[in-house]
Amino acid sequence: MSTPFLSVRDLIVDFHTEDGVVHAVDGLSFDVDKGTTLGIVGESGSGKSVTNLAVLGLHDPETARISGGITLDGEELIGASRSTMERIRGNKAAMIFQDPLTSLSPYHTVGRQIGEVFRRHTGASRAAARDRAIEMLTRVGIPQPKTRVDDYPHQFSGGMRQRAMIAMALVCDPDLLIADEPTTALDVTVQAQILDLLRDLQEQTGTAIILITHDLGVVAATAHDVLVMYAGRAVERGTVREILGEPRHPYTWGLLASMPRLSAPVDLPLRPVRGTPPSLLNVPPGCPFHPRCDYPDLAGPELCRTVRPELSPHRGHGDACYLTLAQKREIHR
Ligand code: SF4
Repeated sequence: MSTPFLSVRDLIVDFHTEDGVVHAVDGLSFDVDKGTTLGIVGESGSGKSVTNLAVLGLHDPETARISGGITLDGEELIGASRSTMERIRGNKAAMIFQDPLTSLSPYHTVGRQIGEVFRRHTGASRAAARDRAIEMLTRVGIPQPKTRVDDYPHQFSGGMRQRAMIAMALVCDPDLLIADEPTTALDVTVQAQILDLLRDLQEQTGTAIILITHDLGVVAATAHDVLVMYAGRAVERGTVREILGEPRHPYTWGLLASMPRLSAPVDLPLRPVRGTPPSLLNVPPGCPFHPRCDYPDLAGPELCRTVRPELSPHRGHGDACYLTLAQKREIHR
């Protein structure tokens, strides 16, 4: 079996706060291969973004305690020096954030900001960086890129700003792109355009993509593989077909039931997962989902409340739940 391009093993991210230790990520493992997209789904606070900030080395070492292994193209990132991480963030890995307005400076033109990233990592001249910015704006479908390159972010629409962010993230041809809720703030049409754009770019360049989202619809349209996270842990992992076609974990069933479907009757109400996610200062013992789960009595209430279920081996369709496969199939027909 070939080595995955990105391999995360037993990742733990704790934050030491005045109120105690926040266990944001607790023993997470996953792989991403070149040319594929991994969708990481879960509610707010499930550890999706914290995981990916750890991959990029963006946590403050004063407050975050990180252990485990993160290997990108054979290079270990945990414990890597600041200069190594800066090199990796420029050339090998990049991130697109949810809200471009917080990442784009209002004081500089869009072209200047894209060009500066290029200059910083390649040492290119200003003229070459401007040409590269125009090329990138063209690639992400900004109309009249030769003139729009001199616009400020406020002169762009929301969808164009998100495209500009993608252009900035891709300007150094990264091998890994992490997109954190890249379409949440956009209307449905623009959302579809941005997802198409990411897919096209991946086809052209073979980039590995991690797509962080709470929306299984976005995953269905874009991802090859899916990791479902709950309370800082992986509760289910598989291909998009496995997770959407034969989901096995009660939390995944809950996420699917809360998602609108075109095939469902229009008057069918959406059912959000009952209850709220746990505080990461005080994660429930046993299965962290047990206070919200409808089936602990079926699986063995003492077991569910006291012993943490582990996700089965690193590859293939796996889930962390004590129900038998037959019980899961019976419940979720
Ligand atoms: Fe529910 Fe128990 Fe499965 Fe957790 S292990 S999801 S509590 S049935």
